[in-house]
Amino acid sequence: MESKIKLSSTTQPVALVTGANKGLGQQLAKELVSNGYLVLIGSRIFENGKKAADEIGDGAFPIQLDVTDTQSITAAAKYITSEFGKLDLLVNNAAIGQSGRYSTVPEILEAGKASVASLDEIRILFETNVLGVLAVTQAMLPLIRLSSSGRILNVSSAAGSLTLNSDPNFPYRPYFGATYPATKTALNAITLALAIELEESGIKVRAASPGFTATAINDFQGTDTVEVGARALVLAALDTESPTGSFTGPDGALPW
Ligand code: NAP
Repeated sequence: MESKIKLSSTTQPVALVTGANKGLGQQLAKELVSNGYLVLIGSRIFENGKKAADEIGDGAFPIQLDVTDTQSITAAAKYITSEFGKLDLLVNNAAIGQSGRYSTVPEILEAGKASVASLDEIRILFETNVLGVLAVTQAMLPLIRLSSSGRILNVSSAAGSLTLNSDPNFPYRPYFGATYPATKTALNAITLALAIELEESGIKVRAASPGFTATAINDFQGTDTVEVGARALVLAALDTESPTGSFTGPDGALPW
């Protein structure tokens, strides 16, 4: 059956980065533009996305996209279909570290312990960090299938690695809780599931962890700048060659 989606005339690769109005997402978007991509700057508040796109300049296009809102996702897919006709790269970057009820990072870590974690808090985190990724991916897949080098990059975290957190010598092990870290573990599972399912289609699906970067998600406690922290994301996003199903970080391959 002939696809209803018409290919636009652009020869430039097209990328969508969710949560690209600030932080690592904006930095990654900026570097994708430098590498010749047309980049859709996903932002749940359109004005914030417009400001970020204006800062990046030509090649960046704001798009309203709340990953927890089905209508927003559907409208975004429709807009990309009519204006760009395909998607070469989807970066699922948007995430939250908490729902807003905690003030400091130590408070978040304490409240994330599996024995006391609020189930409502866990639901809110999974809604954005896991289900949001799946919802956006499912909506964008028809557009990604139209690319000759379709790729999906899920922005994960070493904090979600079951292998690393099983090692008593892993320094961040005490912070492996049932909230944010567990969402990244679930995200890794979904990444692998998509990689396996899409292998025959040629669409490459990866997970990558940035460095520990000073952004709003950690109250700017990270030690890397966005330029340094985003390097592992840029490498994974531009990687058209490595086998699908990779999980990488600033120092190369990460264990799942
Ligand atoms: P950030 O500056 O807080 O950026 C998070 C982005 O996600 C913001 O643009 C935010 O939009 C957006 N977002 C949140 N909920 C959303 C929703 N429902 N719909 C659409 N967008 C939404 O944090 P960041 O450090 O750059 O985080 C980027 C990614 O890196 C995340 O996946 C994070 O888990 C991952 N990561 C970060 C670190 C680190 O050290 N910073 C380490 C490991 C992994 P608003 O501005 O509207 O809130």
